[in-house]
Amino acid sequence: MLSIFSGVPSVKEPHPHVSWPPKDPDTTLRLIEEYIKGESSYTGREGPILDLENAFARYHNRKYAIAVSSGTAALYSAFFSLKLKPGDEVLAPVYTYHATVTPLLHLGVKPVFCDADPVTGNIKAEEILRRATANTKAIIITHMWGYPCDMKEILYCSKQLGIPIIEDCSHAHGSTYRNQLVGTFGNIACWSLQGAKIIPAGEGGIMLTDDRDIYEHATLLGHWGKRSETEVVQGDLRELARTGYGLKLRIHPLGAVLALIAMNKFDSWIKNRSILLNQLVDGLASIPGIIPPFTSDYATRGCWYGFVCRVEDKALKKVTFSNFIKALQAEGVEAKITNVLPLNQMPLFRNIKNIEILNFSSEINFDISYPGAEEFTHSAFQLPTFTDLQSKPLIQEYIDAIRRVVTNIQDLYLLK
Ligand SMILES: *Cc1c(COP(=O)(O)O)cnc(C)c1O
Repeated sequence: MLSIFSGVPSVKEPHPHVSWPPKDPDTTLRLIEEYIKGESSYTGREGPILDLENAFARYHNRKYAIAVSSGTAALYSAFFSLKLKPGDEVLAPVYTYHATVTPLLHLGVKPVFCDADPVTGNIKAEEILRRATANTKAIIITHMWGYPCDMKEILYCSKQLGIPIIEDCSHAHGSTYRNQLVGTFGNIACWSLQGAKIIPAGEGGIMLTDDRDIYEHATLLGHWGKRSETEVVQGDLRELARTGYGLKLRIHPLGAVLALIAMNKFDSWIKNRSILLNQLVDGLASIPGIIPPFTSDYATRGCWYGFVCRVEDKALKKVTFSNFIKALQAEGVEAKITNVLPLNQMPLFRNIKNIEILNFSSEINFDISYPGAEEFTHSAFQLPTFTDLQSKPLIQEYIDAIRRVVTNIQDLYLLK
């Protein structure tokens, strides 16, 4: 009998099955050491912030790094540094985390949404070409759930349109496309270092570029004072160093320490996730009607931020998706419906009045439907991103429990 009726979960392990970030005594000691040193604010490019930026830039073999207070701040810095203006348009995925796009609204820039590939969830290149207009100034892409966008095609679009690419790599630390790391393709790349991400600063973000002008503008935007005085060398910008452009977007130094520690463990975490989550993929692939995350042989999913799989409508046999998820949860499986929805379904974007407070005047056209994003998301659910190799038997229990629910799906007709 399914657990939803018997009340006895088949997966017995107590929850949560994964907690992130992992806590360890070395990290605690390092934080205390840094705190005792007494320097709690760095105004220049120095201390753990400098170390983090150097480590991150070196890892990706890019010239300039700026650590900031959040992934959202990194994206805002990127858009600002491209000197986007009110009335400009930026091509953006309709299926992404909202913060990929919301900073544009604060610049008066109109996001023009592009549909997703229903297999990968990533922005579709042909949509980019179709939705471009004379006002299009840039393309932002997100490597959703760690799966790299088709960079060959995206680079082709960028060349055709003569506009820069920004990569939102906040799901995809360490992912590769044809053996090249994501974050090394675009003119600018941004990562969130928020606590749930694989390199967790608690709160933080980082931006990489090889373009000196972009670097200096981003520096002036959020790092006025000493850092701007030493880092901004272009004559006409230098005189702004004292005030910058007036925002303050610095990362907390203890956050930078946390991120630095995580960078040392990053490669081994990625390796473990790849072993464990491929075990989960292989197991799920043997259950008819369950669609595990797709990875082509020329890509790797790096940190696998979020393990998103789907169930085919026909496998549900008219049982509602939410009852299916409830049945999985009753088995003791930590399944949840993903909270990342296509942006045209979110009130901020759906109701233009919500944006008036930002002085935002451009219309967003929502007459368009986005069937690819709809197909990818309407029956998508998330399982934990296991990182500890000891979870192997637990993963097998997950696979068995999910198979049980799918095989006995008709029993769920008894539910309301
Ligand atoms: C987490 C995330 C962000 C925002 O990062 P914050 O650090 O929370 O501001 C942006 N884009 C994507 C794809 C994310 O996953």
